[in-house]
Amino acid sequence: MIENRIFAPSMEAITEFYPFLSTPKDVVITMHQKPDGDALGSTLGLSLFLRKLGFKTHVISPTNWASFLDWLPGCKDVIDYEANLSLSEKLIDEAAIIFCLDFNVFSRTKNMASLLEKSNAVKVLIDHHEEPQKEAFQYGVSNINKSSTCEMVYDFIMDAGYTALLDLDIATCLYTGIMTDTGTFRFPSTKASVHQAVVHFKQLGLKHTPIHERIYDSFRETRLRFLGNALLNRMEVFYQYNTAMMVIPRSDLVHFKTQTGDTEGLVNYMLALEGIKFAAIVIDREENARKWSFRSKGTFDVNRFARAHFNGGGHKNAAGGLSTEPLDEAVKQFKNVLEQYEKELSAPYQY
Ligand code: 5GP
Ligand code: MN
Repeated sequence: MIENRIFAPSMEAITEFYPFLSTPKDVVITMHQKPDGDALGSTLGLSLFLRKLGFKTHVISPTNWASFLDWLPGCKDVIDYEANLSLSEKLIDEAAIIFCLDFNVFSRTKNMASLLEKSNAVKVLIDHHEEPQKEAFQYGVSNINKSSTCEMVYDFIMDAGYTALLDLDIATCLYTGIMTDTGTFRFPSTKASVHQAVVHFKQLGLKHTPIHERIYDSFRETRLRFLGNALLNRMEVFYQYNTAMMVIPRSDLVHFKTQTGDTEGLVNYMLALEGIKFAAIVIDREENARKWSFRSKGTFDVNRFARAHFNGGGHKNAAGGLSTEPLDEAVKQFKNVLEQYEKELSAPYQY
């Protein structure tokens, strides 16, 4: 047993956890709701690695995910919590260790949050988001300078001394999250270490082209037409603030028969507008919540913006949040708060 739980008031370094890798256990690996390429890639990559060490692993997602990620090695075994409540509860209850990847506050796991909170398992964090809830984890690594959680799982495997266990399937999972979270290697988080990891993956036989095609060239016709409609009819540009926003009403989601993942990446298109530094999208997705996504270029900090005004968080240049108000109220609130940032948004920035 790992008995540190009661005695550790705050998270211990992940290096302190390495010795436990030589004693295989039953573990659960989980991620944030509506997992993206980084959340699924990192959890699956870690799972495949731990299985090679003899661990019994169960990867549980708090919700479903986009079908363009289904091909990931091991993805068919991922348990969707909302579709398998009693099995998930049993596995979480029986787990000796719960690995928490690509999120750092339990609220990001939607309805699984209270289960994770009350679990007696040892909780291990691997994550790159701002402001982790450190007291909730016994061991972990939180590094906002890392491109992706997938890069951190790569570091974990290397640093713990298991380079020889990295194989093509693990590399494929980890490449996927690195690729998606770096905006295909363009964001400033794409440090030399990212390309060095990719060199290693290529040496293991990674075929990157099919991965890009499965993720980015796999639209259904309705998804592409939904995107066209959003760009044509749902975008507003505020040149005074170097800002663009999109408002997606529920009727569009119904009309274009959207599925999980269809809105992913929509917010980024607005950053293609010359001079635009801040892009926001609000989607009238659920009965009681409007989902925001924020993206920025340069120094404008959308994590801070999302935390201050929209119950959210994330990274400096990519964050999300929620509004409980009706859609038009939420939009009004956004336009009002934007005024406060005029000076910041009109100033030039350096890389
Ligand atoms: P997205 O806009 O793609 O949903 O999320 C952008 C980034 O912000 C991701 O890293 C995601 O994990 C984080 N994020 C999205 N929504 C929330 C939220 O409501 N709260 C927090 N803390 N982070 C979020
Ligand atoms: Mn991530």
